[in-house]
Amino acid sequence: MQYRCPKCQSPKIMPISNGNTVAKPVVPKSLVILIPALFVLLLLVVLSIGLWIFSDGAGSTIQIATVVAFVVCVGAGIMFWRDLPDFKISMQSFMNANKDWKCRECHHEWHVQ
Ligand SMILES: [Zn+2]
Repeated sequence: MQYRCPKCQSPKIMPISNGNTVAKPVVPKSLVILIPALFVLLLLVVLSIGLWIFSDGAGSTIQIATVVAFVVCVGAGIMFWRDLPDFKISMQSFMNANKDWKCRECHHEWHVQ
C-alpha cells in the first residue's frame, strides 16, 4: 500500500467513496479534547502577552484560565500519547480499506488491490 500518487509521487491523495461506505478511522477522544485545548491555550497565552505589553499585566482570571488550559493540554496530551498506537492501527486499516484513491495534484485516479 502506497500513500503517494503513483503518477506524480505527491502525498496529497484522498480516498474516493464509490457508494460502499468505508469505516472512518476512530478518532480518540483525547485528540478531540487536545486540539481545541491547544487553541484555547494559544489564545490565552497571546492574550496574556498582549495584556502584559499593553496594560499592567494579565488579570488573575486569565492567569488561572491559562494554567487550567495548560493542565488540560498536558492531560489530553498524555492520554493521546497512550491512544496513539490504537489510533495508528485504526488509521492504517482505514487506509488499507480504501481501494480507490485520487491525487489532488494531478487528478490521477487509481485502484489499489
Ligand atoms: Zn498525482
